This record gives sequence, structure tokens and C-alpha cells, in this order.
Amino acid sequence: MNFFRDIWTSGRPVCSVEFFPPKNEDSEKQFLLTAERLKGYHPNFVSMTYGAGGSSRDRSIGFGQQLRTEFGYEVLPHLTCVGHSRAEIGSILDEFADRGFKGIMALRGDPPQGATEFKPHPDGLRYAADLVSFIHQNHPSFALGVAGYPEKHPEADTAENDLRHLTAKVGAGADFITTQLFFDNADYFRFVKNCRAAGITVPILPGILTAVSWKQVSRFSAMCGSKLPAQLAADLERASGDPAAEEEVGINWAKDQIIGLLKAGAPGFHLYILNRSKPALELMHRLGEELGTDFRTIPRAEDKNL
Ligand SMILES: Cc1cc2nc3c(=O)[nH]c(=O)nc-3n(C[C@H](O)[C@H](O)[C@H](O)COP(=O)(O)OP(=O)(O)OC[C@H]3O[C@@H](n4cnc5c(N)ncnc54)[C@H](O)[C@@H]3O)c2cc1C
Repeated sequence: MNFFRDIWTSGRPVCSVEFFPPKNEDSEKQFLLTAERLKGYHPNFVSMTYGAGGSSRDRSIGFGQQLRTEFGYEVLPHLTCVGHSRAEIGSILDEFADRGFKGIMALRGDPPQGATEFKPHPDGLRYAADLVSFIHQNHPSFALGVAGYPEKHPEADTAENDLRHLTAKVGAGADFITTQLFFDNADYFRFVKNCRAAGITVPILPGILTAVSWKQVSRFSAMCGSKLPAQLAADLERASGDPAAEEEVGINWAKDQIIGLLKAGAPGFHLYILNRSKPALELMHRLGEELGTDFRTIPRAEDKNL
């Protein structure tokens, strides 16, 4: 029995929320406030990103632990291969196990700031699939999530090759996939169809960015290779300069995306909230208004392929 393996079979939409470790006192306050406020919406689990560099790593583990012990969340810590030898990865895994984490989001990681290309540690791991295998062999009790890219990973030469590499991650032992953020549900539906055709059967949790500004959406879109639908770009551009109006556009877009996904039978949704409570809470509130106050207890739609 493992929480992260079992939640998918409840027939209810799974909701996960991503946090990153705050960097200073102010952002820590915001992080804690968001963690406190979101409790009322009972996400099934929250995840904690993993940064490059020592202090960021200690913060990832420390704040992940705080989300578990102080707020009672089930926490999925992220782990990347960046800069780590196998021995270091082994000791981090031991620490995760000692602290009581039950699952890990296994990633290759982005090159550290200033570097253009990912370079593995001389005694480290090259791809996320290698990390999945390593964890699977050394700590088989951890459930494992991996990243999927509906619009292709930016470094991949073709979508077909990217899918082949995703298939390898799942073959190595991943239990579920969380997707990169996307703004057009058609990209997710196409991606899931291709995954299923390639023989991937694990749940594919769609990743949604909660409302931010026109500037942030443009930055994320460029960084992640997620295209901006013309309608969203036009709405955001029109609202540009008025933070409340921009946020409103973003919340409504995310809400409509999630409703469309759940109605089509997606297993749930993963929220990239950037540690901000207001848009996340407003989004959850509106989902409740449209889908019923406790919309998360509504049985999933029937399309089991999603
Ligand atoms: C849900 C989610 C959470 C994330 N959390 C974090 C985080 O906490 N910290 C962080 O630093 N980053 C995070 N990222 C970003 C992620 O680390 C980057 O997108 C990174 O560039 C790729 O990681 P990956 O695990 O997908 O790598 P991989 O699956 O290893 O893929 C990386 C690239 O290599 C290619 N590839 C894979 N295997 C092979 C092979 N055998 N031969 C040739 N090419 C291959 C793939 O097609 C892809 O282009 C996250 C991304 C997502 C979607």
C-alpha cells in the first residue's frame, strides 16, 4: 500500500498543488499563509520543487517536511540529478525515507543558472529514467512521479523521441506522470492519446498554471515551450497593466481548462500556484461554484483513457 499509488483508484479527481521553497522572510510568510489557507480545499497532496545548489536543496527538504508535519499535507518531494553523485542521491533517498515521505517526483532537472546544457555529475545520473531506475532498485517502496510534456520537452528533437523517453521512464518504474503546464486542453488530450498508443497506462495528471500576470504568463510560456492560445493572449493583453484584471483573466482561463479536463475524464489536476494563495483559493472557490461546493467528491467522468 502506498498513498501515491492508491489515490488514482478512488474515482474522484485528484488535486495536487506545487510549492517551491521560499527564499527570504517575506516569501516565507507568503508560503506559510498559502499552505494554511489551502488546507480548506484538501488537496490530495502537495509537491515541493528541488533546486540546484546546496542551500536551496536544504530548503526544499526542510519546507517539504514543514508542509507535512505542521500542516498535515501528504508531500511529494521533487528530486533532480543535477550535480549529484549516485552516493549523494542514495543518501538523500535515505533521508526522504527517514522523514516519512512516501513518494518522489523524479526529474533530471534543468541546467544550473548560467549553464546552457545539462551535464551529469561524473558519477551521477544522466536522465530522469536513470533516476527512476536507481530509486526503484534502492527504495522500491517509494511511489514515483515523472514529468511529461504535452508540447514536447524543449530539448527534444521530435515529439516521437520525447515520447519514447517518457515511455522509458514509465518502464523504469514511474507510477504516474504530471505534465508541464499547458494552456490549451487540446494539447493534453493529444498527448494522452499518444501516450496510450505508446503503451503508457499510468495516470497523467494535467498541470495548470493558476492566474498570474501577462508578463509572467509570457515568461512561463517561453520558458516551458507552452504556447499561448490567441484568445488568452488577447484577453491578457487587453487587461495588461491592471493586475486585478490580469489575474481575473488567468483565474477564469484556468477554471475553464480544469472544468473541460474533468468533464473529459482527466484523473484530476496539478496546480502550479507559485506559492500564491489568492489566485489559487479564488480558482478553487469558482470550481466549487460551477461544479458543486465539494466538487472533488464528484465521481470522475467515464473516459478511462485519460
Ligand atoms: C511536473 C514538473 C515538475 C518539475 N519540477 C522540477 C524541480 O523540482 N526542479 C527542477 O530543477 N526542475 C523541475 N522541473 C523541470 C525539469 O527538471 C526540466 O524540464 C528538465 O529539463 C527535464 O527534466 P525531466 O525529468 O523531464 O528529464 P528527462 O526525462 O531526462 O528528459 C530530458 C530531455 O532528455 C531527453 N531524453 C530523455 N532520455 C533520453 C535518452 N535516453 N537519450 C536521449 N535523450 C533523452 C528527453 O526527451 C528530454 O528532452 C519540473 C518539470 C515538471 C513538468
